[in-house]
Amino acid sequence: MNTYARTGLVFDHGAGARLWTVEGDEYIDFTAGIGVNSLGHGHPELVAAIAAQAAKAIHVSNYFLTEPSIKLAERLTDTAGYDRVFFCNSGAEANEGMFKIARKYGSSKKPEKNVIVTLRQSFHGRTITTVTATGQDKFHKYFGPFTPGFVYAEPEDTVQLDALLDADTVCAFAFEPIQGEGGVRPLSREYLQAAERLCRERDILFCADEVQTGIGRTGTLLACEQLGIRPDVTAVAKGLAGGVPIGAILARGEAAEVLRPGDHGTTFGGNPLAAAAALVVLDQLEKPGFLEDVQRRGRMLRETIESFRHPLVKDVRGMGLMVGVGVKVDPHLVVDAARAHHLLALTAGEDTVRLLPPLVITDEELKLGAAALKKALDDVLKH
Ligand SMILES: *Cc1c(COP(=O)(O)O)cnc(C)c1O
Repeated sequence: MNTYARTGLVFDHGAGARLWTVEGDEYIDFTAGIGVNSLGHGHPELVAAIAAQAAKAIHVSNYFLTEPSIKLAERLTDTAGYDRVFFCNSGAEANEGMFKIARKYGSSKKPEKNVIVTLRQSFHGRTITTVTATGQDKFHKYFGPFTPGFVYAEPEDTVQLDALLDADTVCAFAFEPIQGEGGVRPLSREYLQAAERLCRERDILFCADEVQTGIGRTGTLLACEQLGIRPDVTAVAKGLAGGVPIGAILARGEAAEVLRPGDHGTTFGGNPLAAAAALVVLDQLEKPGFLEDVQRRGRMLRETIESFRHPLVKDVRGMGLMVGVGVKVDPHLVVDAARAHHLLALTAGEDTVRLLPPLVITDEELKLGAAALKKALDDVLKH
């Protein structure tokens, strides 16, 4: 269907942070399939694990267990510090499940405790309920009536949040540690720690949407680790299986015990193919120095772009290899111009060029990509 304003590029194959079109043109990939291809393209161990698992069993359904999904559940909950996990297939599906946990948790405490507070400029997915949770008016068209029981708070306004988080009616507060689609806007430690405190006082589930920030993107397994907060529930997806569709809901404590047989389900979730791929991603992330190097290269990319002192650049934001470049023009102009210099980049919000390179990108590829971005900014300035 006619759902995307596509570029017309037809890609054939990739290696690391590079992609080649069917015509053989080479591009530097600062998109990683929107933060998905965490190990880049054609990663040998990932390819081998997927091929080996495909030959054994691709899918058996959740009536049965498989070794890869058992191992992944153990590894992911252990390293992330959660008690239980539910596997699904996408970010929206993970958030839907997180909201279902919140609703059941709340209603078990008080009959009216079902409101979910999210933030303005947030993005939580494309289903009716996750679009409702998304705090951007431009998404709230055509598809109504929307799911009742969602309220939006202004990011960084602790006074307003204090007023909105009513202990009798609110079951959850959900946030992205860095608002991704909304413009690569990091939330402050102070705000998030205050929000966690309010949630604890009022028995409200503190829920992180780490679909974009999670799985090493910001230089730690989860971004919340760097912010001194411990959510009750965390949704992850995008980068978890290096490109194979997957989502996961991590939960701890009481929140981990909310769902019972029959409450929730998914046909494809937890299939051994996606689990085998995700195990390779976790193996790589846990290699000594891998995540530190994501932080170092993220800093290098941000500093390189800042060093341009480009008249079109307002600011450079982000953590690890999740970078937002605030620009004074429509960011689509910059992304289009970058493509002419064989760099693939993304936009976010109204004024931001978003860079999400594969976590395995080399220093040299980062420099090449940054140089192409500078040329693109120069081109836009000239016109
Ligand atoms: C991409 C994204 C989603 C939606 O994930 P899908 O896999 O497209 O359903 C939800 N939340 C955040 C923060 C995202 O970046």
